Amino acid sequence: MTKTRKKLIAGNWKMNGTLASAAGLAVALGEGLEKEPALLEACDFAVCPPFVHLLAVRQQLPVGVALGAQDCALNREGAYTGDISVNMLVDVECDYVILGHSERRQYHGETDGQVAAKAALCYEKNLTAIICVGETEVQRAEGCQEEVVGEQLARAVPPTATAGNTVIAYEPVWAIGTGKTASPEDVKAMHSFIRRHLKEQLAEGGNMRILYGGSVKPDNAEVLMSTENVDGALVGGASLKADQFLAIARGVK
Ligand code: PEP
Repeated sequence: MTKTRKKLIAGNWKMNGTLASAAGLAVALGEGLEKEPALLEACDFAVCPPFVHLLAVRQQLPVGVALGAQDCALNREGAYTGDISVNMLVDVECDYVILGHSERRQYHGETDGQVAAKAALCYEKNLTAIICVGETEVQRAEGCQEEVVGEQLARAVPPTATAGNTVIAYEPVWAIGTGKTASPEDVKAMHSFIRRHLKEQLAEGGNMRILYGGSVKPDNAEVLMSTENVDGALVGGASLKADQFLAIARGVK
């Protein structure tokens, strides 16, 4: 049976801002939620700032908004220059880690196998992995989006994934940061495909959250968030302004 749970509205701040602006955004979220506590009843929230802003954001985040990182290292510790381990993320009290974002896949050659290995490390430390999947524009034009996403799910989501330790984010690559959003029909079709796939793949696949990401804005949030099998949003650009991020949550009815 599918359990109903709050929608998760997660912000991916990417490589934006300064220490001061990141902390200020966390403060602004707190002020907004204090004025509108009903949003906390309707939604769970998370924000994923750049690594070097995590601690400052943690110190300002209001209750009800979890902290996430945008990636983690493939190894536990040691001579891996530039990498950030899951232990370090636990140390700054992260709850979530985004894995396999299309920008990591595109610019850093991250593979599904690496995503699965990183997710397994997250599970060891009770971090929830937000595993991103999604097809490119060419793949959609060729009509092979389900094949692509199905393969990503099979390879990037470990067999130990549960509804508690994993969230799937469907992010069509062509909709990220472009202002193009998948139509509600396309989102419905893909999310129900992902749901079926997860149910076959995992014992708890029926209860795992599936977020939609790709140019989610206040004006399209209500339609997207009321689409079947959409359990929340992964928000990029619009998560950099507290009022827009909270307006997206307002779209959850
Ligand atoms: C993202 O990068 O995860 C994302 C969804 O970005 P945007 O909302 O800007 O399309």
